[in-house]
Amino acid sequence: MKSIQEEIAILTGIKLLKYQIYALFRYEKELIAWNENFNLTTITTPQDIHIRHFLDSLSCLQVIRDRKPFRLIDVGTGAGFPGIPIKIVVPEVKLTLVESTSKKADFCRYIVNELKLQEVEILHARAENIGQDSCYREQFDWSVARAVAALPTLLEYLLPLVKIGGKSLAQKGKTAHEEVKKAQYAIQLLGGELESIHAVDIPKVEDKRFLVVINKVSSSPAKYPRRAGIPTKRPL
Ligand code: SAM
Repeated sequence: MKSIQEEIAILTGIKLLKYQIYALFRYEKELIAWNENFNLTTITTPQDIHIRHFLDSLSCLQVIRDRKPFRLIDVGTGAGFPGIPIKIVVPEVKLTLVESTSKKADFCRYIVNELKLQEVEILHARAENIGQDSCYREQFDWSVARAVAALPTLLEYLLPLVKIGGKSLAQKGKTAHEEVKKAQYAIQLLGGELESIHAVDIPKVEDKRFLVVINKVSSSPAKYPRRAGIPTKRPL
């Protein structure tokens, strides 16, 4: 059986240092402990956390190849996925986490402090409001999300946050191609262009996983994102 360090090296090409492995184990331990009192995640065994949280989050590094400091925002991060594992493995990321549930945002704040992660901002907020805030709108090199909404809705959260030349990444399962078809209008309207639908194999996970990458080629119209709740109620 391979160690988590070996699995990560195979998946991402990155060999972790001891302190990074320690950080992942500490994260796992705190996630399990908090989950006894708060419903942070349905994935709760150490093995599932390694595979479905850590490896799945880190698979994003197959397309995020930047290694100079860059800004990344994780929308609907929950207990920190995929943003925090990415930050642990690529410390040069300047990370912003957005989460609308206060307990989950509290957990993120706690774990970021415990792990002494630098240059991480945690926003207890809705993506729709952050996307209309000039401190965040069109400020990021990457916006990413996993398991937050169907693609047409998700892109209304993600694309306005990215600067021209930046990219949005949606982690998707087997519906990826279908969702991209349904999101054609949203992609074009919000200033995006499909770059790729990248397939990833996560060890011990049968279902295919996909990274949908959208380039930001022009500004998103000021109207988007619409006010909180509308992108889900009336998807583009
Ligand atoms: N990304 C995490 C993961 O993959 O483990 C969490 C996924 S969870 C199914 C979806 C999360 O998105 C929830 O924690 C929810 O509170 C958050 N969320 C949904 N809509 C949101 C919005 N409009 N703004 C901010 N957070 C949102």
